[in-house]
Amino acid sequence: MIDLHTHTTASDGSYSPTGLVELAEQVALEGLAITDHDTLAGLAEAQQAAEGANLELVNGVELACKVPVGTLHILGYFIELDDRALGDLLGRMVESRRKRNPQIIAKLNELGYEITMAEVRAQASGPIVSRLHIALLMLDKGYVGNVHEAFGRFLGDEGSAYVQRTEPKPGEAIELIHQAGGLAVVAHPVHLRAGDEQELSKKLKELADLGLDGLEVWYPEHTAELTEQLWRICQRLDLAAVGGSDFHGAVKEHIKLGTGRGGLNIPLEILERLKKRLSRKS
Ligand SMILES: [Zn+2]
Ligand SMILES: [Zn+2]
Repeated sequence: MIDLHTHTTASDGSYSPTGLVELAEQVALEGLAITDHDTLAGLAEAQQAAEGANLELVNGVELACKVPVGTLHILGYFIELDDRALGDLLGRMVESRRKRNPQIIAKLNELGYEITMAEVRAQASGPIVSRLHIALLMLDKGYVGNVHEAFGRFLGDEGSAYVQRTEPKPGEAIELIHQAGGLAVVAHPVHLRAGDEQELSKKLKELADLGLDGLEVWYPEHTAELTEQLWRICQRLDLAAVGGSDFHGAVKEHIKLGTGRGGLNIPLEILERLKKRLSRKS
């Protein structure tokens, strides 16, 4: 079994890169991709931890892209850690996220919620402080009943304290991932908020035309029906089918590494196919 979508303390996960590799070994994963948001900072440590382990580690990243409706995250797999152009983009994204947090907090203060940047920072164990950490603090303070509510009412793109940040256009993200030697895959297509299979197919065709390599077909929040639709779309558009749990550790306690909510079971063959696709391209 493999898991191609995971986060560490380098972004907003609760396991260090070494800790995550150790956990992957404990649950007997054969393949693991670390895909932190906007950063490659955890990958060198993870590679070191995976040396000599019976586990194939894939260098990954997850990039949020600018889209008019819904949420588009693109996963990059097999990327080179020292690529300048990708590094520059990631630097700009982290910087804009850093600037955005105080703006969100100011809006929340205006709405009457007592929250400080220092308190939010204390929620994060790594260098990246995200909206998730603001949500967790709001939960701690009893301002919301759960993280989902914090995003819906305040932090999400329809929330009252939402602030836009620097995000690449989908084509730009795909191109940068390719330039860095990687493959670009749409994460959790469920969040594209397509109304039906036809609309989903249309959105994904547009991305395929921009050079997209694959889709995250298997994901904890995907229904059996959506999984089947995505599988069909992969066949039709010649895209690779991949899957992962979006493991974050303690901050998303109900999601387990490898198995997600319990039903995920992605065979090693999926990673083998992805590698074949990469070698076909180069
Ligand atoms: Zn995501
Ligand atoms: Zn993710």
